[in-house]
Amino acid sequence: MSLKELHLAHTQGFCAGVVNAIDIVDLSIQKFGTPLYVRHAIVHNTSVIKDFESRGVIFIENLSDVPNDQVVVFSAHGTAPNVYEEAKQRNLTIVDATCPLVTKVHRQARRYSERGIHIILIGHRGHQELIGTSGYIDAALLHVVEDANDIDSLSIPTDAEVGVLTQTTLSVDDTSDLIHKLRGKFPNLVTGGKEDICYATQNRQDAVKVLANKCDLIIVVGSSNSSNSNRLVETSKLMGVDSFIIDLPEELDITQLDQFRVIGVTSGASVPSYLIDRLVQKIKLHSPSVRIFQEDTIEKNILFPLPKEVADMRP
Ligand code: SF4
Repeated sequence: MSLKELHLAHTQGFCAGVVNAIDIVDLSIQKFGTPLYVRHAIVHNTSVIKDFESRGVIFIENLSDVPNDQVVVFSAHGTAPNVYEEAKQRNLTIVDATCPLVTKVHRQARRYSERGIHIILIGHRGHQELIGTSGYIDAALLHVVEDANDIDSLSIPTDAEVGVLTQTTLSVDDTSDLIHKLRGKFPNLVTGGKEDICYATQNRQDAVKVLANKCDLIIVVGSSNSSNSNRLVETSKLMGVDSFIIDLPEELDITQLDQFRVIGVTSGASVPSYLIDRLVQKIKLHSPSVRIFQEDTIEKNILFPLPKEVADMRP
């Protein structure tokens, strides 16, 4: 069998939050120089991180690794309030690259917490966004749910008022199943009307569903620590289409494609478009007669504001 068609997901790659976060680091390098300290990977993509490292950015997890009076950029995934406090006490200049859509979840977390109601936070334990959001919630009120088993083991009284928040990069379908199950257990469940999954996550999963209707295989470009990229693989598999993730085009064993007629390619929200270009070139070299299809992205003109520390630097 030989490869006939390559379909590129209509919406993939950088979201507005990632564009903003990368701009913030770029502008901070220009304004403050290097070394520039960034707390946590600015976005979960190894190519982006390596590029910044080569330009003098130092990624750290603990503020104790930042010398006093320096500038520190906080990553797009959000940061817990105690870390802001520590930075202020150390006289560090904070440039906050938290995605505004994550900040929105933080605000709701604080509101629920101040009301003193139990809060169920749906997300992946250990993920930076979950750690950041958890910091806005009184520990005695916080219940993390990762899957349906966690719901069975919740010890909150079933007649209690319970608020629900979610990580922004979850599977839309899995999360809606979990919320359905939670409603069955807690009739007084309070949600913001819809889960907190962001537009970019939703659009990329929708685009994979479109691909899955016409492809025999879907390749997802994304780093292994990227939540939204991993969800794209799951979305494809749930639609019955084989899928795998690669961080770099060079990782693809091109002979694998010989068993497929129609393949799809997509990428997570933190993946630079040059990686997709390189992958397409590699596929074209191997299968010169392959026909390539791509529809227009549905995301247009989404731009988030820059923090005041670098706002004057936007060209
Ligand atoms: S994936 Fe969503 S929440 Fe995360 S940075 Fe992008 S727009 Fe923001």
